[in-house]
Amino acid sequence: MDFRPTPQQDQLRRQVREFLANDPALRARPFPEEGWILGRDPDFSRRLAQKGWIGLTWPKRYGGAERSYLDRLILTEELLRVGAPVAAHWLGDRQIGPALLAHGSEEQKNEFLPRIVRAELSFCVGMSEPNAGSDLAALTTQAEIGEDGFTIRGQKTWTSFAQHADYCYLVARTDPEASRHRGISELLVPMDTPGITMRPIRDMVGESHFGEIFFDDVHVPRSCLIGELNRGFHQIMQQLDFERSGIERLLSNYPLWRDVKRIAKERGLTRDTVLRQRITEIEIAWHAGRGMIYRVAALLSEGRIPNHEAAAAKTFCTSLEQRIAELASEILGPASQLLPGSEHAPLDGRAARNLLYAPAYTIQGGTNNILRNIIATRGLGLPAK
Ligand SMILES: Cc1cc2nc3c(=O)[nH]c(=O)nc-3n(C[C@H](O)[C@H](O)[C@H](O)COP(=O)(O)OP(=O)(O)OC[C@H]3O[C@@H](n4cnc5c(N)ncnc54)[C@H](O)[C@@H]3O)c2cc1C
Repeated sequence: MDFRPTPQQDQLRRQVREFLANDPALRARPFPEEGWILGRDPDFSRRLAQKGWIGLTWPKRYGGAERSYLDRLILTEELLRVGAPVAAHWLGDRQIGPALLAHGSEEQKNEFLPRIVRAELSFCVGMSEPNAGSDLAALTTQAEIGEDGFTIRGQKTWTSFAQHADYCYLVARTDPEASRHRGISELLVPMDTPGITMRPIRDMVGESHFGEIFFDDVHVPRSCLIGELNRGFHQIMQQLDFERSGIERLLSNYPLWRDVKRIAKERGLTRDTVLRQRITEIEIAWHAGRGMIYRVAALLSEGRIPNHEAAAAKTFCTSLEQRIAELASEILGPASQLLPGSEHAPLDGRAARNLLYAPAYTIQGGTNNILRNIIATRGLGLPAK
């Protein structure tokens, strides 16, 4: 595969860098890590939208730019390298749009895609439940089919962006009699529908970027169904291949790592051969991980669905992000454990925050264990049992 950028891609990278160098949102970001999760700034998203940088790969008739997945990768790489606050439009752009393009009706595409492109809508994805995470087919939230639509009962958990979302991309059981994987459907549910309540969950950092959603006899019309009734599980598996392997899986703590490397040099720590070697190992792995992610984007650009390739990229890159969080703290020394607010905290406590967030890297979007199962069975052809 040839990843050498075309002149148009070089130009896009330059344009994004120039935009970011001048955008006020970047000057006011105290914690640039996890910009795609914690960096919610609807004004910034709207400014990106005005540049035409949301829905970059989508058809022009829905407001997209019909550019390649590699172009989108270049765009997101530039955004996340500096910790741009992209969370407000992130799920719509990365996941919901592609899901609607793949499975939505023409009416749904016309209704939602142009609004996502204009950064007018925020989404959450309601898959996980208290007793259904890795084993998604164990979900029990029901969407009972009636004459004029669905009545939803159940609970979702760990739902990112639940408190800000206009719509929940909900996965629910529509046929309780069918086998586990068959009776599941996808619905796009407005979050202001009566009967929906949301309770934020605080993570170890102290942030509430996700929450629990409760559905108590929530009634939605039939038009909320995405794709085929009872074929939701099959649809989701495809969507996860989109979700898993973007450059966000490598760049969540890139701003911290860049600053820590600078400090290590300034303090003369890199004169230590062992430390120099450990930093170099991470740098080499980082470039290998970046290559894996570029490969996935190249496959998507060729119209292929990356599956075990996406699983491998996510496993490798998120494990590396965790190593970065650990080595960054080690380099900064014991004070790196101090949280923001302490005058002695190096880098305003960013390393401590990152170390507390880091366990999530290998859980969100599918755990490493599950992804290794995918690599083993679909990539290496090993027996499932
Ligand atoms: C920050 C964050 C954001 C999230 N955002 C969302 C969201 O927006 N929407 C959403 O729906 N969910 C979200 N999740 C939930 C996430 O998808 C689940 O936590 C994840 O799929 C694991 O499910 P679980 O927590 O139920 O753990 P379990 O599935 O109970 O797993 C527990 C442990 O057992 C291991 N395990 C389970 N089954 C197997 C197996 N077959 N083989 C080997 N090991 C196995 C797992 O790897 C894990 O180590 C988020 C999670 C986090 C941390």
